[in-house]
Order: sequence, then structure tokens, then C-alpha cells
Amino acid sequence: MTDRPDAARLLHLRGETLAKGDPVALPLTLASMYHLPGDPGGVAAYGRSDNPTWEALEAALGHLEDAPALVFPSGMAAIAAALFATLGAGDRLLMPSDGYYTPRVLAENFLSGLGIVVETRPTARFTEGGFDGYRAVLIESPSNPGLDLCDLAAVTGAVRAAAGVSIVDNTTMTPFGQRPLELGADIVVASDTKAPGGHSDILMGHVASRDGQVMARVADWRKLTGAIPGPFEAWMLHRSLATLELRFARMCDNAQIIAERLRGHPALTALRFPGLPDDPGHNLARSQMTRMGFLIGLTLADEASAERFIAECRLITPATSFGGVHSSAERRARWGDAVAPGFVRLSVGCEPVQDLWRAIDAALRG
Ligand SMILES: *Cc1c(COP(=O)(O)O)cnc(C)c1O
Repeated sequence: MTDRPDAARLLHLRGETLAKGDPVALPLTLASMYHLPGDPGGVAAYGRSDNPTWEALEAALGHLEDAPALVFPSGMAAIAAALFATLGAGDRLLMPSDGYYTPRVLAENFLSGLGIVVETRPTARFTEGGFDGYRAVLIESPSNPGLDLCDLAAVTGAVRAAAGVSIVDNTTMTPFGQRPLELGADIVVASDTKAPGGHSDILMGHVASRDGQVMARVADWRKLTGAIPGPFEAWMLHRSLATLELRFARMCDNAQIIAERLRGHPALTALRFPGLPDDPGHNLARSQMTRMGFLIGLTLADEASAERFIAECRLITPATSFGGVHSSAERRARWGDAVAPGFVRLSVGCEPVQDLWRAIDAALRG
């Protein structure tokens, strides 16, 4: 079990820096230019490289990760930064065959063309075949959408022993559910569009690492490509982080209760949730996750029953993405994910759980 982030101090981080008369809430700084006469060193110079609202957000994320963090305008911008900062022509990249699909498309459509060899492997068997010869290894546990796990300490240790760089996408867990850097990861990437944002109104992402050289490359990548977040989105995410621990705890508690009640439900042909004792990932989850997450994978008989369930449940928003205060769900095969046609990824929200269960049960019974 890894340590949890210090959620109490997170709420007082800004307070530690305030002078008498400063606003307690974080100001939103909209700036492309800064007052910059003469020698430009040592101060904010230009909006593509500097913004005080980003810096406050990075301090909060860095506190949660216990490592320096850099913010990006989306999870994909963060993942792209981590990949381009670590890979060069002739390198080999290993990634999950069953993880979030967009990084695979990015690798196939762009990295391959730059002379990087891209290979994939299923998360549940990620250690099979070893890690010799890979410059970078992208890892996702639990994987989105199938919710398979791999042993993060074993994988990151083996990658390091083979002189590679391990990059863990921690989107499905957030730092409150799992801390990959404590488990040996070199780099953490995440989509803060999901639970950290939590209100389905912004896209954001971040990269965190204790390796100063890696972070300097990632910062350079952001400045040189201009893949920078808007200050308003950064301000929104900073505000959302204040309630992340509260929302995430409620979502995970709800998911545990819902998953237990879904067990053996006549409408389901399969059920995945790492918090269930008979789930294939349960023992690993208990050893490396501090919470069991808020995503549940449920498989209904076929496409039609899955679509009917999503459409008819009055407390489920039919939408792609996850992690909102409201529950949401979608049938992942509609995007071509390698899952059963009746597989539904359910993102459990903050609704009072008895109401949520009644709505889910009623929709499953049809
Ligand atoms: C959504 C998601 C991403 C991409 O994040 P965006 O903010 O949509 O760019 C990356 N990894 C995982 C696991 C995701 O679920």
C-alpha cells in the first residue's frame, strides 16, 4: 500500500504563500505579455512559457504527485510530451494493446514515421516477454476500458533494469487512488479532463517526474510546440482539485457498493471491478492501489441490450469520457475497442448511492 497524498495540506498550499491583503482564492491571470524592460532573465517573460495560474496549479498537482509537475491542455498533449521528450529515431516503444486507444494511433500515425518501432502487449500479461531493448514503456493500470491490471512495481523495476523509461498513465486512478512514482515509475501522465476536472467542462492533463532532465525536456517540448493550456482552464482545474479527494472518495465508495450489488445480476454476462474479491486484478489492486476506483465494466447480452440500458437509466449520462460528478456510461465497442459488443464502461459519480442503485437496477431489468 502506498502513501496517500496530503489532502489537508492541499487546501492550504496557497495560504502558505499569501501576504496580508492578498486574495485567498487564486487569481486568474490572462497574459501574453509581461512587463519586461532590459535583461529578460529570472522573471515571467512571455505567455507561451510562463503563467502564474499554471504555476499555482502545478504546485497543487506537484503536491499530489510528490514530484514536479507540468500542465498541458489535454491528457493527450501530456502523453505526447512524455513520448516526444524520451524517444528518438531507432528507439523501441512498448505500449498496452488494450489501453486508451488514442496513444496507439498517435504512435502508429506519427512515431512510426519518425523511425520509432512501436510494439504492443495486453496489460494482464504485460511482464511476459521482458523489457530488454525498449527505450520507453507506456503502462496503464487499471487499463481503460477493460480494467485489467499489471504489477506496476515489477514492470517499472524491470524497465529500469533494462535501462528504459517507464511512463505510467494514471488517469483511471488519480493520485488519490494510486501513486505510480512511489511504485518506481519514471514519469506519470494523466488526463485531468476526467475525475480531477470532474465537472465535464474542461480538458487538461499533466506530466510529473522526479527526473530533472526529463522535466526539462518536457518543459522545452511544451514551450517549443506551443501545446500550452489556457489560463482559464488551468484556473478551473485548480478549483476542481480542492474537491477531488471528496469527490473521488464518494465515487469509489459508490462504485464498490454498486459493483457488489451487480454481482450475479441476471442481466449481466460479465462484470469487472478491481474491488470485487473474485476479480482477476483484485490482489494486485490491494497491493498497489489505495482505492479501487470508480469505473465498472459490465457486459450485457448484446449491443441492443447495452444501448437500451444506457438510454433508459435516468441517472446515467450517455457520453464518452468519465470521471464526472454525474454517473455516465458508454458502449466501448462503438469506438472499435477490443471488447464484447455488450460491454459498458460505467463511470460512477457522486449521486446518493441508493438512488443510483435503484436507477441502475431498474434499467437493467428493462
Ligand atoms: C481520456 C484519456 C486520455 C486522454 O485524455 P484527453 O484529456 O482526452 O486528451 C489518456 N489516457 C487515458 C487512460 C484516458 O482515459
